[in-house]
Amino acid sequence: MKAENKTKITFPSHSANEAFARGATAAFLARYDPTVPQLADIKTAVSEAVTNCIVHAYPETMGEIAMTLSMYPGRKLRIVIADQGIGISDVAKAMEPLFTTGNPEERSGLGFAVMQSFMDTVKVSSRPGHGTRVVMTKVLTERS
Ligand code: ATP
Ligand code: MG
Repeated sequence: MKAENKTKITFPSHSANEAFARGATAAFLARYDPTVPQLADIKTAVSEAVTNCIVHAYPETMGEIAMTLSMYPGRKLRIVIADQGIGISDVAKAMEPLFTTGNPEERSGLGFAVMQSFMDTVKVSSRPGHGTRVVMTKVLTERS
């Protein structure tokens, strides 16, 4: 199915760009008038995925993060967040709640669990040494 509207932005993995990604998502969604809770859920999911790129994909360096937002007929939103960082060797394990390779004082291992609970679908594909791609979808509530 063809997207009705689509944007792709790329930005370096500065921690400040997590807020930029959330804001860009809100701006893209503004014309669809999402409910306040849905917008909050989507922004939180974006924030978790982008933070993972910043923290895990490019731990020592700066790298590029690409975020694509597409709206399909039926108010179906699709978000792709991709990096070309270190990748994940065992995606199923990484998605388990409480699993983290980060500093346990800073990370709780709940980012993927949050994405899954706030979005309708979350799919992760990754190749170690090549990068990671997170694809999330959510159908926005109809507005009269
Ligand atoms: P939290 O999100 O609660 O701060 P976390 O980031 O460790 O902690 P998740 O977001 O669930 O938890 O991610 C789980 C693990 O998956 C991470 O610890 C990391 O090993 C791996 N991971 C997630 N995203 C990426 C990525 N883009 N590149 C490389 N590894 C990743
Ligand atoms: Mg995380």
